[in-house]
Parts: sequence; C-alpha cells; structure tokens
Amino acid sequence: MPAEQLHLWINGQRAPAHGSRTGAVFNPASGEVIRQVPLADGDDVDAAVAAAKAAFPAWRETTPLRRARILTRFRELMELHRDELARLASEEHGKTLADATGSVQRGIEVIEFASGVPHLLKGEKAEDVGRGVDSHSLLQPVGVCAGITPFNFPAMVPLWMFPVAIACGNTFVLKPSEKVPSCSLRMAELFKEAGLPDGVFNVVPGDREAVDALLAHPDVGAVSFVGSTPVARHIYATGAKHGKRVQALGGAKNHAVVMPDADMEFSAEALVGAAYGSAGERCMAISTVVAVGEAGDALLPRLLAKAAQIRVGRGDAADIGMGPVISAAHRARIVALIDSGVAQGAELVLDGRGIRVSGCDNGFFVGPTLFDRVTPQMDIYREEIFGPVLIVLRVDNYKDAVKLVNANPYGNGTAIFTNSGHWARRFENEIEVGMVGVNVPIPVPMAFFSFGGWKASLFGDLHMHGMEGVYFYTRTKVVTSRWPAPSERTGGSLVMPTLG
Ligand code: NAD
Repeated sequence: MPAEQLHLWINGQRAPAHGSRTGAVFNPASGEVIRQVPLADGDDVDAAVAAAKAAFPAWRETTPLRRARILTRFRELMELHRDELARLASEEHGKTLADATGSVQRGIEVIEFASGVPHLLKGEKAEDVGRGVDSHSLLQPVGVCAGITPFNFPAMVPLWMFPVAIACGNTFVLKPSEKVPSCSLRMAELFKEAGLPDGVFNVVPGDREAVDALLAHPDVGAVSFVGSTPVARHIYATGAKHGKRVQALGGAKNHAVVMPDADMEFSAEALVGAAYGSAGERCMAISTVVAVGEAGDALLPRLLAKAAQIRVGRGDAADIGMGPVISAAHRARIVALIDSGVAQGAELVLDGRGIRVSGCDNGFFVGPTLFDRVTPQMDIYREEIFGPVLIVLRVDNYKDAVKLVNANPYGNGTAIFTNSGHWARRFENEIEVGMVGVNVPIPVPMAFFSFGGWKASLFGDLHMHGMEGVYFYTRTKVVTSRWPAPSERTGGSLVMPTLG
C-alpha cells in the first residue's frame, strides 16, 4: 500500500507545502514507512504566521468566557476521539496503546485547566496604593506564539502548550516532530470542529528549516520548545537573539534514590514501570537508581526479576508491556551505549541487545536492559540514553546520594523511596531538581501545577501549564489610577512621586 500523504494545517484547512521536501513517518514496530509528511520551509512558515497574525485581533477581542466555551467543546471532542488519537500515537511512536491512552488523557487535562481561563486571567487589584490612588494589573496576550515539540509524546506535549496559549487570547503555530505528525494534524481538525476560528491554530510539520524560520520571524512573540538539551540551547539562544520570550525544556537523566528503609518490593515495582514504560522514551523516565547502603543488594534481584518479565512487542498487541524505540538510528545509538557500558566495566545484569520479536523482524526493538555497579565516569551515566536501559549506582549514605544527583547537569525529575519522613523532607528541600517524587517514581505534575525542570533541563524562566504557563503566554500591564474631585486636582511636580 502506498504511504499516506500528509499536509500542513493553515488558516483552518489542509494545505500543501510550497516545497517538495518530505519526511518518512515509520511504524517503528514493523519498520515500515506508513506516511510521508511535508517538511515546511520558510514560505510555509510565513503563510502560517500570517494566518495566525490575521486571526489575532478578533481572537483577542473574543471574551475569555467565549474562548473557554470553545475549549470545553474541544475537550469533549478530544474525549470522544481519545482512542483514535492514542492509536495514532502508538502507531507512529511505538508505545503501547494503554500507555498512549494515558498520555492523551494527561494532555486533555491541560485543556480542562485552560477552560478555566476567565478565572486564570484575573489580575491583581489594590485599593489606596496612595491616597485616592488604586492599582490593578491586566494579563494580556502576547500575539502569535509558536510551539516546537519532540517525538515522544505526539499528543500530550503539544497539549501542554497550545490550549493555554489560545485560551489566553494568543494565536498559535505548532511545529510537531516530523516523526509523529498525525496527532497534531488531527487535533487541529477537532479544534476547528469545536468552533475555533480559522487561523487561530496552525500546524507546520517540518524539521530544522521550519524551526529556524519560526525563531527568526518578526511576527512571532513567544516560543515554547520541548526536546533534547542541545536543541533547547539553540532555541533559547536564537529566540532570545530575535527578541522573543522563550521557554525551552531539554533532556533529562532522572535519578531515584532508594534508602535502605524503603519497601523494596514496592520500590522495585515502581522503578521498573518508570524505567521501561514507553521503552524509556519519557523525559520523566527513571533511568538511574542510586541505591543507598544495603538497598542495592535487596533491590537488584527484584529489579532483575521484574524487568525480565516485561513482554516486548507491537504497541497495539494484547498484554504487551513495552514497544519498540522510535527509529533504527536510535536503536543503534542505544545498543552502542550498552556496548560502551560493558567495555567500561559496568555489570550487565540483563541484556536487551539482539532481542527478536516474532512477526516484527524489521521493527526497532531493544529489550529491557539493566546495569549494576555503574560509576559517574561511564558514558551510560553521562549520556541521556532515552531507551529501555536502567543503571544502578551504589553509594554509602544519603549525603552521597544527594551530592551525586545535584552534581548531574540535568535537573528534570527525581524521586526518593523511603519510609522515613525525615529523609523525605530533607530530600525535597535539598535536591536541585524541578519535579520531585516521594515514593512516586514519575512525579509529572497535574495540569493545574506547572511542569518544568532545572539546570540543563530547562532554558528560560517559566514552566509549562499551570499558572506559569498563563504567565508565559501573557504580558502583565499594571494600571495606576486616581479620580480626584476638581478641588483636589493639584498641579504636577518635578519630584519623583512617592505615594504612601
Ligand atoms: P529533538 O531535540 O531531536 O527534537 C525536538 C524538536 O526539535 C523536533 O520538533 C525537531 O524537529 C526539532 N529539531 C531537531 N533538531 C533540530 C535542530 N538542530 N534545530 C532546530 N530544531 C530541531 O528531540 P526528540 O528526539 O524529538 O525528543 C527526545 C528528547 O526530548 C529527549 O532528550 C527528551 O528528554 C526530551 N524531552 C524533554 C521533555 C521535558 O519536558 N523536559 C519532554 C519530552 C521530551
């Protein structure tokens, strides 16, 4: 069967690309090309930004309540089509259907949060900041905003961005990952069906060419990015150079600290789910266990037994725990990193290289892999592997564990497993990471909190969704006013006014 041809989404309709460059979209379980996606160029980006710019004045004037009603309808349609979106995400990414469904649901919750926008946009008001003088603040939209998203959450990560931006009165141009474009294009159709005016939301699949056109475009006011750290740095620096506000979320190396007092069975169960779910291709996956004292010896056999039981196969097959990784090139990189771990002296406890999945000879599979006695100097510790590889480091005490986590350049997520409130409280206070779990391995904040890491996991100031998302997509204006009676109208003064 010939591969399906995809399109751009500009001004409320499907549009062909100006140029002829296309990208292949794979089903990673079969290794087959299932779709061809146009790769947008500068002219396509110009057309999308022009549509968004033209739609902005009327959308800004649409009251927040009316915007919220369209978002509510969009949420309803997303719920009706949740399984269809999950199937698209699973087909193009490889993750299991159950996992894809969960991630679509977490994205829908951001629409639910954004539907409260009339409340979220209420500013502050203070009476009598001076005698007879009041102040209030307004949160006003930025204008045209752009989003650039990674392959690993085809629906959820775009949903971290555009519902909040659009609810706040902005218009939006989304550049989804060229590896998984279908969810974004489908969501654009559903948003239109919900009543969104044409031009408010546009989708330009593409690669670096489209990204660089967005970053340099004078009519784009804000750029949200989620992806790897080197690209996040590039987006942040280039966007800032062009005078835009930027939030650029990068890669991760998430550590779970396991204290000797932890419930080992519970901890091992949680860690195996967090390490191998979605084949380790989650920015919040636990990829590193820091076992404190005797926790290591208690944990290892349990991790091994549970990891070895994971069934690997097509994401849409029944009873599968883990699907393939995204591409042949990514599989080769993961295998090379496993090779390096062996060469550099780590203990390979479970080897996922060379796994065969029956009926999927050309799929991009790596089996669950577990290393013990890893050191911070090894490449498997230093690199973000982004695959089904869990590494265990052993340290003597709590202090050394915190030192290790804080010395890591990334700071996306972390977790502690313990039965002690003392260690848990110290950990949440001392750890230099943006999202922290206590006996929760993947502490992804709900939509009404904000999502974001520290250090090399986020460039910029504001996290995504929650109130930080609202602040990112709005400009604050503070109004100071007085209404003196005619008899109280004194003249101006050359002295700096002090109210009080
Ligand atoms: P990636 O950085 O390769 O790509 C992300 C986006 O940037 C894609 O849309 C891609 O087309 C574009 N892009 C790629 N190279 C570019 C370049 N040189 N110039 C401009 N644009 C470019 O990331 P990925 O492989 O799609 O996703 C995996 C990465 O994303 C991992 O590092 C993972 O940790 C990270 N991630 C982070 C979070 C988070 O919240 N911090 C969430 C999900 C994924």
